[in-house]
Amino acid sequence: MSARDYSRAAYACDPHQTKGRRFDEPAPGNRSEFQRDRDRIIHANSFRRLAYKTQVFVNHEGDWFRTRLTHTLEVAQIARVIARSLGLDEDLTEAIALAHDLGHTPFGHAGQDELNRCMKALAPDSGGFEHNLQSLRVVDELEERYPGFNGLNLCFETREGILKHCSLANARQLGDVGARFMDRTEPSLEAQLANLADEIAYNNHDIDDGLRSGLITLSQMREVPIFGRHFHQVTKDWPDLPEHRAVAETIRQMINTLIMDVTQTTLSRLETAQPKSADDVRHSPPMVAFSDDMRSQANELKAFLLRDLYRHYQVARMTNKARRIVRRLFEVFVDEPALLPPNYQRTNRAHQPRAVADYIAAMTDRYAIIEHRRVFKMDETF
Ligand code: MG
Repeated sequence: MSARDYSRAAYACDPHQTKGRRFDEPAPGNRSEFQRDRDRIIHANSFRRLAYKTQVFVNHEGDWFRTRLTHTLEVAQIARVIARSLGLDEDLTEAIALAHDLGHTPFGHAGQDELNRCMKALAPDSGGFEHNLQSLRVVDELEERYPGFNGLNLCFETREGILKHCSLANARQLGDVGARFMDRTEPSLEAQLANLADEIAYNNHDIDDGLRSGLITLSQMREVPIFGRHFHQVTKDWPDLPEHRAVAETIRQMINTLIMDVTQTTLSRLETAQPKSADDVRHSPPMVAFSDDMRSQANELKAFLLRDLYRHYQVARMTNKARRIVRRLFEVFVDEPALLPPNYQRTNRAHQPRAVADYIAAMTDRYAIIEHRRVFKMDETF
């Protein structure tokens, strides 16, 4: 079966059949329910802040590296291409992709891990801090843009896609979107796809940023089979190509290979399972996937990036500084809420750690660095 045989498929989420919003609203006049979700996400404050949050490299380390915003746009681009080939709802796929990292802290995973440690230490009953859950919290509670409700009041399908992972204890508190973690069902195909597009995007752009930073080298990368194979072909086809162009072309071809593989693998799984509706999908095994061979190649690449880039000593130094900034801010604000902006101060002390976590999670890299200086250095005046 070719990808072109699908237009809008029965297994796609249908905006006319949405399971609805938390607060009823009149139907949008000139766009679908999922288009409206996508548009709301783009106008959100937390979306703009992604421009100044770390992907791998802290925002001020260089203008050429990905930020969480450019990462997000690459995820949305990859996800839309595949969505169209599979006959999925492109607007929903894009909405999920654009929102998937809204809950990320400053300083990437280092910030998140530290905030989680802080929450668990100072508020053991809080369930800690999970960035996926925080993304949902942003769109459900923390955005303040609409007169009638907190958050963006997105459709169930968009919220379901945003919540990729969740601990069982937290899932129990969530109602509708938490249910699938307890009954072990799958999310929509659009959600499954946004998740895999995230992996395709970061594996490839982290090679690009890693090489550009000099923390990893081309000779190391050539030892990683999926990169080596594509690079070999590129240099065979264009023997005189300058290195930076050969790298760009290699990454372009790798993204294409991965997209084609996901599309074909998913189409053949759909053909076998024959889901008749979006709800059928939820009760079927996962459908959006790499082939077994591509999965193991992608895993090799991930293992390389983890060992040689994300744990590089120069990255570790920045990670260590980031962790200390997050920890010190968290401790001082929980200890002395009077130092917080008034809208984050809680009269009930039991609610204070979560409000502090919300405040810190919303910060951009540079805001966290400046705030740390303002709170701890005597030469700052405010
Ligand atoms: Mg991501």
